[in-house]
Amino acid sequence: MVIGHESAGVVAKVGSKVKNLTVGDRVAIEPGVPCYKCDHCKQGSYNLCPDMVFCATPPYDGNLTRYYKHAADFCFKLPDHVTMEEGALLEPLSVGVHACKRAGVSLGSRVLILGAGPIGLVTLLVAQSMGATEILITDLVQHRLDIAKELGATHTLLLTSDDTAEQVVDCVHHTMFEDPDISIDCCGAENSTRLAIFATRAGGVVVIVGMGLPEMKLPLFNALAREVDIRGVFRYCNDYAAALALVASGRVTVKRLVTHHFDIMETQKAFETAHSGTGGVIKVMIHVQPRNTNN
Ligand code: NAD
Repeated sequence: MVIGHESAGVVAKVGSKVKNLTVGDRVAIEPGVPCYKCDHCKQGSYNLCPDMVFCATPPYDGNLTRYYKHAADFCFKLPDHVTMEEGALLEPLSVGVHACKRAGVSLGSRVLILGAGPIGLVTLLVAQSMGATEILITDLVQHRLDIAKELGATHTLLLTSDDTAEQVVDCVHHTMFEDPDISIDCCGAENSTRLAIFATRAGGVVVIVGMGLPEMKLPLFNALAREVDIRGVFRYCNDYAAALALVASGRVTVKRLVTHHFDIMETQKAFETAHSGTGGVIKVMIHVQPRNTNN
């Protein structure tokens, strides 16, 4: 199947009933189109639609192609000063927006983010823009923490994959001075989700974004006895417009996440680079048109 779900493109053709777009418009593509008819769609949580047609989610092809057809109402016209690369990055950024909304990040929030991959980093950017004042981010890789610091994390914590939540929870509390109100797991490792629960203050919120093993051992008694709410995140829902507004207004800068560029003919090399995790790779951008013509 064709892969790809983080993309932007130039409108080549429109259907006769399309009013919001014209040929030549540069658009970010929200990659999932729901049924519009089920209870979830009608109630506004279309990300939970069981009949969602989502790029690169079997049986549907993705959009790492030269031409691709998509619903016009899931295309977001980019202002002239927003680049195609930023348009593509609205996809992960929307995950960050959804996660921070689900978490209830607000003015003065103290937030623990676990994992400084692309999703952890966009969550950091959104949490900052929503008013979080203390943000501790963890990872196993120092380079990723360095970027998180550059992007504005107030604290970073280098962990090893063997560290147990019980061993490091005091360090989290000590580093943040006070227990976080909110913890957002952006890696999906069991010890990380456990740490999210242990570290969060009583009455706080844990949001799980990372997709790890389908089943894991979690300290649920600890969560219930301290009324820590555990909330899931599945993609995004009505978040693309906010993500675009954050980028267009300059409130959030996502460009730093793109570390490598490839032409579509070099796609295999692009994936090998991303998979290797070496060379400081964060986000690899694949260009269908030469880079200097679609910026
Ligand atoms: P990634 O693999 O690039 O980043 C994960 C980061 O977590 C890495 O930097 C890794 O070093 C770090 N890490 C691993 N184990 C750790 C631990 N125990 N403690 C701290 N850090 C640890 O992935 P990504 O693209 O940033 O995505 C993150 C997760 O979010 C993935 O599981 C992905 O599947 C998931 N995801 C979920 C949704 C959703 O809708 N829920 C959407 C997009 C991505």
